[in-house]
Amino acid sequence: MAEPVPEPVLVTGGAGFIGSHLVERFLEEDRHVYVVDDLSTGRLDNLSAVRSHPKLHVIVDSVLNYPMLGDVIARVREVVHLAAVVGVKRVLEHPVTTITTNVRGTEIILDLCNRHRTKVFVASTSEIYGKGGENLDEDHDRVMGSVRNWRWAYACTKEIDEFLGVAYHAEHGLPVIIGRFFNIVGPRQTGEYGIVLPTFVRQALAGEELTVYGDGEQRRCFCHVEDTVDAITGLMKSDAAVGDIFNIGVEQEITIRGLAEKVIERSGSKSRLRLIPYETAYGGGFEDMDRRQPNISKITRVTGWRPGRSLDDIIEGAIAFQRDGSRA
Ligand code: UDP
Repeated sequence: MAEPVPEPVLVTGGAGFIGSHLVERFLEEDRHVYVVDDLSTGRLDNLSAVRSHPKLHVIVDSVLNYPMLGDVIARVREVVHLAAVVGVKRVLEHPVTTITTNVRGTEIILDLCNRHRTKVFVASTSEIYGKGGENLDEDHDRVMGSVRNWRWAYACTKEIDEFLGVAYHAEHGLPVIIGRFFNIVGPRQTGEYGIVLPTFVRQALAGEELTVYGDGEQRRCFCHVEDTVDAITGLMKSDAAVGDIFNIGVEQEITIRGLAEKVIERSGSKSRLRLIPYETAYGGGFEDMDRRQPNISKITRVTGWRPGRSLDDIIEGAIAFQRDGSRA
């Protein structure tokens, strides 16, 4: 029997941090990979290892360009929709772009996938859990802060994306899968948009103080991007995942102060920590969550996925990447 022909796939946001790793994986699977990215936070450099691959097709454009996307989606069998405005700092600086890109972009993708009956993965976020907590399962209640606090705009855009995704599945039978990312980190992530781990690594390597916001006792769970790619591809291959929502993250927590200390220790830096009040870092009225820990039993049950990389590996990889550009 002939081997099945690998199916072409579109990755929106494919020049971004997570997207570029996913693109490499799909190319390894010998698939034609279309990338649509407006390079607002993505960079063509992220794709430098595969830039001349004959099956890679990069389109530098916005996910708000309906005719262009219609043309691309007509050529593929699957879509992974990652394109969004991301990063707390960027969201605070560009609330209008955040809302329009994240909501309208997903509306367009889902509408076109529905017209072409194309399976689609929609990226969501642990910000959905609002003020957070521990052992957060996918059906956990969510509490957001005031509309006056722009931080929550991001969560609300992703909330609408999720509702729209499950609604398309319920009303039109569109095969939609939603993944909620919890603090994904790894090579190619930059500190430019305020993301904590690459920021700490940059500061430690430069011998600068590490900027710990608040009292540093807030905790997060960090998941390696390659584990995230495994999660996405596993979900896309699973019929049981269709129409459902999945946490993608690590259950092990660390305080932000603890993270800063580990970065200093692992990089052999002489830097010290500096505690910075949230008002100074993000402006008045900013709210942070003390904890945001996923329950990942659903994705493990449905696909068998569990994250494989330890926090120490993750930190060492982030240091190696910034120190010598290594792809560890
Ligand atoms: N943070 C910090 N110093 C920084 C950047 C971030 O202490 O230079 C803190 C931030 O306030 C939050 C945590 O690190 O408590 C994670 O921030 P990030 O923006 O990476 O992701 P979030 O979990 O907030 O989406």
